[in-house]
Amino acid sequence: MIKLVSWDVDGTLFSYARLFQSLIRLGPRKLQLVGLTALAREIREVWDFHAIVESQRRTADCRVDEARMKGFAEANANEKEALQAALQRMSPRQAAIRLLERFKGLRVQQVALSDFECGYKVKALGVDRYFAGTYSCREIGYWKPSPLVLERLQRDFGVQPGEHLHIGDRPDTDGEACARNGAHFQLIHASPKLWRPLRSLLRRTVEGELQPVKLCRSS
Ligand SMILES: [Mg+2]
Repeated sequence: MIKLVSWDVDGTLFSYARLFQSLIRLGPRKLQLVGLTALAREIREVWDFHAIVESQRRTADCRVDEARMKGFAEANANEKEALQAALQRMSPRQAAIRLLERFKGLRVQQVALSDFECGYKVKALGVDRYFAGTYSCREIGYWKPSPLVLERLQRDFGVQPGEHLHIGDRPDTDGEACARNGAHFQLIHASPKLWRPLRSLLRRTVEGELQPVKLCRSS
């Protein structure tokens, strides 16, 4: 019996395609405000930050290394501002709303679990009312696919891995964390083909720097 449902946020509660459209619509205003050079620098910094995150999640223990992300406070703030504005102007994924309603009807506790701060995201999307809490892997100290982030939720809500369902869009992070922990996993939507080359590019950015993560599945 499922007693706790956790939701990944990015790409799960909303689609990246819609987010991209929303960001493009906001682009001219942003360009007018900061200019092309500053905008290009902001995008580059956000890219570099996420490349570091991807490299850290591929280490053996997926530990968050804040020291390597120290110089990105401004990039994080810029990304948050852009995402908040974009998410406020778009709708969440309808498949997610249907499932959120279903679990609400069944009185199953639901939480949001993102690699990053996500309270403002669920609020901007208008779905914060469904969640008993929001969790950030960065704050917990381990990126997905570390099973420790799921264990933290299970401790907080007093449930066993077999009573926990996690819903996400990435088999290599959300799905793998569940495989290591023993929680149930539901893939809500595979990432669109459009994003695979981008993700591959991001991965190649860090290739050679670290060895691929060694998978150790729970029995
Ligand atoms: Mg995601």
